[in-house]
Amino acid sequence: MADRYALFGHPVAHSVSPALHAAFARQTGQEFTYDKHTVAPDDFSARVKEFFAIGGKGLNITLPFKGAAFAGADRLTPRARQAQAVNTLWRDNSGALVGDNTDGAGFIRDLTVNHSIPVGGKNILLIGAGGAARGIIGPLLEQAPARLHIANRTASRATELAALFGSPVTGGGFDVWPDARFDLIINATAAGHEGVAAAPPDKLLAPRFSGYDLSYGDVAAPFLQWAQSHRAASACDGWGMLVEQAAESFYLWRGLRPDTAPVIADREAYFGSGGGIM
Ligand code: NAP
Repeated sequence: MADRYALFGHPVAHSVSPALHAAFARQTGQEFTYDKHTVAPDDFSARVKEFFAIGGKGLNITLPFKGAAFAGADRLTPRARQAQAVNTLWRDNSGALVGDNTDGAGFIRDLTVNHSIPVGGKNILLIGAGGAARGIIGPLLEQAPARLHIANRTASRATELAALFGSPVTGGGFDVWPDARFDLIINATAAGHEGVAAAPPDKLLAPRFSGYDLSYGDVAAPFLQWAQSHRAASACDGWGMLVEQAAESFYLWRGLRPDTAPVIADREAYFGSGGGIM
């Protein structure tokens, strides 16, 4: 019987993950199945146990279960521990349930390799202090930025997150901004779901700054329009991050790295010009 993989979330109806993994499987000559399952919040732990008990090989976990997967794993990778969230599960040789988080690696690869946007020595402004923001801070710091300021609607969430990491990370609200010019503005808020851009004051923008929105499709449109209207050198959404985090999960499970470039280029095939979810 073919190896089984799946995505658990609520909801997952519009997820493109099965199509991404099918593309990776075709490309690498692998045979397995990958399904998506909408899981009721109270059933999450039982469904994970059942999936692996009947021979499932690996799970992707999306909202709202990344925290529950973190809590339920027997063993966590360092990057999952840092993000305090798990999006990829598998069993190791001893049968222990291992939890990892591939979001940060997917983001950094898309940013620095696919878009050639440098982080080392730069001033980075991260807007948002939710789960996605938390998952990319560690990977950003590994690139040695000069400073990383977290700005969030609820200021206390940003200052608490900044305190966890320490220098060069600072945090604050939308009312008091640091005296700096930022080379890269990252939108990690959910504001785009309300059709608005969470954007900083113009005086904080370095000439030829880059804008990157972790969201993709229609949800990213308000931030990308704001960046373009402020003469950003580049304005990217999180479609490439989505593909890269999936490729990283594929690598963890199958030991092979798919070529993400043709999949990223074929975006229209996955959800037309609109959006989608993991
Ligand atoms: P989350 O944990 O719910 O956090 C939401 C964040 O958005 C919080 O910082 C919240 O601020 C802020 N926010 C919400 N509405 C806002 C508004 N109207 N104005 C300003 N700030 C607002 O969500 P998340 O998991 O971090 O996800 C954030 C985004 O990243 C989502 O759009 C998601 O789709 C995207 N994402 C993409 C990928 C990918 O692979 N491309 C992966 C993960 C996430 P408060 O703290 O004040 O509430």
